[in-house]
Amino acid sequence: MSASNCLKDDCLFCRIIKGEIPSTLVYQDDCTYAFRDINPQAPTHILVIPKNHIDSCADISEENSEWVAGCFVSIAKIAASEGLEKGFRVISNSGEDAGQTVKHLHFHILAGTKMDEGLI
Ligand code: 5GP
Ligand code: ZN
Repeated sequence: MSASNCLKDDCLFCRIIKGEIPSTLVYQDDCTYAFRDINPQAPTHILVIPKNHIDSCADISEENSEWVAGCFVSIAKIAASEGLEKGFRVISNSGEDAGQTVKHLHFHILAGTKMDEGLI
């Protein structure tokens, strides 16, 4: 990861990255931190976040897209290490109508159950 990262003192997920709030680590590298969701919505529910504060998908730009690409490389690695050969769903809620509750860009990996075709 070439770009230096910026973490916010008042952001829950930035504080998790810094180790100020405990989490169950699944994977991390220079760009990405991945941990178990505290309120899982599927047998496997992992949050993948960039180690750089970006509010949401609405704030992705040419300047910070390297962080996002890194998250997706990590998602593929996590899918392999977690044994998600039968499939998984990746979701990112952006903004109020989508139900985003933590304003640090995150990708939910959901797996371990047959998901219905509602919404997507
Ligand atoms: P959103 O609703 O913004 O798409 O997703 C936020 C997710 O963060 C939720 O699924 C919620 O359960 C999870 N979450 C909120 N606070 C914590 C926490 O302190 N630790 C962990 N591991 N997950 C959290
Ligand atoms: Zn943050």
